[in-house]
Amino acid sequence: MKTAVITGVAGQDGAYLARLLLDKGYQVHGTLRPDGSTDLWRLDSLGLRNHPHLHLLQHDLCSLADSLALMDRLQPQEVYHLAAQSSVAKSFEEPHATVNGIQQATLNLLEAIRQVTPTTRFFEAGTSEIFSHKDSAMYNELTALHPRSPYGLAKLSTYWTTVNYRESFNVFGSVGILFNHESPLRDQRFVTRKITSAAACIAKGQELVLELGNLEVRRDWGFAADYVEGMWRILQAKQADTFVLATQNSQSVRDFVRLAFASAGIGLAFQGCGEQEIAVVTDFLEGFPDLSSNLHTGQIVVRVNPGFYRPLEAGLAVGDASKAKLQLGWQATTKLQQLCQIMVEADMARLSRK
Ligand code: NDP
Ligand code: GDP
Repeated sequence: MKTAVITGVAGQDGAYLARLLLDKGYQVHGTLRPDGSTDLWRLDSLGLRNHPHLHLLQHDLCSLADSLALMDRLQPQEVYHLAAQSSVAKSFEEPHATVNGIQQATLNLLEAIRQVTPTTRFFEAGTSEIFSHKDSAMYNELTALHPRSPYGLAKLSTYWTTVNYRESFNVFGSVGILFNHESPLRDQRFVTRKITSAAACIAKGQELVLELGNLEVRRDWGFAADYVEGMWRILQAKQADTFVLATQNSQSVRDFVRLAFASAGIGLAFQGCGEQEIAVVTDFLEGFPDLSSNLHTGQIVVRVNPGFYRPLEAGLAVGDASKAKLQLGWQATTKLQQLCQIMVEADMARLSRK
């Protein structure tokens, strides 16, 4: 039976990865914040909180002593380092805390592995935010790096820290350059879940206008459950390496809004442009419960609020995951429309339970 550590086990990816590893028969040790403030709702929603092979522990990622003790006590075969302040938007509000926290955590874990358990395999959750996204090319492992946010800057540093420990100290340190991946377990501060939860509320008759920032931005959005499978495969490879995980398709925020509302049975049309752009209800789709008593055609359900614009945007973002496909046999299998449906249905079910 293998032993794995997942930092940030209570986050979106942590919960899905814990389920995957437990299903594979691992003993999983998941770290939580040291102050006991972590909400375990995602582990609850996957039915994992009381799993006999899931062990939760408080851990201070900013303390090297804590990481040394962790490796010494658990002697894990694999460490999946997922804990991070993961919001780009928040990183513009709290640049110092974001960069400092992310850098220290990766350095401490790698140093502990180097000193205590040098054969432990280490996965670093990298991000497409290390690319500049300035042109329309597909981004792969060889693309030039140019982060456009404090979050991207921090993750650029942890990418190089992992590569450096691999090259300097022979630590098995691998990086997944992860494009956006979403799920019903995504925090609502991210645009996808913000949209699906609003679509569900509006379909249920709540009077609400969804306010969004830049609708033009395109993202390569996949399903988190597919991506944690990729993380696991990255650590099963013969050699430590870097792999892009992506769907290889991009859609705009506007496209995502259309798909999400369609998943709730609501047809939309966008009108106007820039800060004046709105979306109105055009029709109710077949195959859904009758929504006409909850909302009416012509009703405004989305508007732009420039308060959600960012100081800098990473533009078009499409990942080229052909190396992962060729070397790991991994590819993203869930299409965006399916993902929207999964997320909206989960949000509707949550509202029905309330
Ligand atoms: P989440 O935000 O859902 O989860 C992050 C986890 O890290 C949470 O459990 C959070 O704890 C924990 N955490 C945050 N800050 C600290 C801290 N200072 N000390 C201890 N724990 C902390 O993110 P995801 O699961 O979506 O992402 C997992 C990893 O993948 C992250 O590193 C993220 O940056 C990276 N990534 C994610 C992408 C995505 O699209 N999802 C894309 C690219 C990279 P708490 O619950 O208590 O807040
Ligand atoms: P990110 O790619 O990690 O920053 O994930 P987000 O889900 O936070 O943002 C994805 C894109 O959606 C970004 O380019 C945002 O500018 C854009 N966006 C547009 N409106 C919103 C909004 O209301 N909230 C968020 N979070 N993003 C928005």
